[in-house]
Amino acid sequence: MMHNKNVRVHSQDVTAAAKAALIRRGVKIEDIAEIVHEMQNPYNPGLTLEHCIHSVERVLSKREVQHALLVGIELDELAEKKMLSEPLQTIVESDEGLFGVDETIAIGSVLTYGSIALTTYGHLDKKKVGIIEKLDTKAGNGINTFLDDLVGSIAASAASRIAHKMRDLEEEGETFADVPPVVLGPKTESDQDDE
Ligand code: MG
Repeated sequence: MMHNKNVRVHSQDVTAAAKAALIRRGVKIEDIAEIVHEMQNPYNPGLTLEHCIHSVERVLSKREVQHALLVGIELDELAEKKMLSEPLQTIVESDEGLFGVDETIAIGSVLTYGSIALTTYGHLDKKKVGIIEKLDTKAGNGINTFLDDLVGSIAASAASRIAHKMRDLEEEGETFADVPPVVLGPKTESDQDDE
């Protein structure tokens, strides 16, 4: 089918679908925020889980991130229903180590958050912090070949935002204790181009 500019999906529908997909797969925003807090707490005095929740919400408001979630979770779910064709079915189902497309999608969605997000994603991918460990397909809890990387990428992006915010605060002689958590959250106006 050719691109049809008369058919447009409303951004609210994409946002709702991405959030619903996460919930359906057993991942709460708090679970992702806990990873962010664990990563950033040692370097950021006054940082609370609430700050991290708002930062995760902000990352989840980005369309690129939502699209990555929808694609990855769809593939995990199709694999659980044995609806992929071979050899892809077996590759996704077994979380084949050399597959790499799960990581590629995750890396693609952290890139807008800079090098800190990228290196943090790499760390999370290796160490399997927090819920990422539980999502591991090889641990036998369904197929989450894409989801574990997507959660890592969202956490890494949210952590990067906090690291950058910390630098701004340092320059002002402040800490996160001076920042209401909502400041890190989604803007009230549409700000899809903004970090
Ligand atoms: Mg994976």
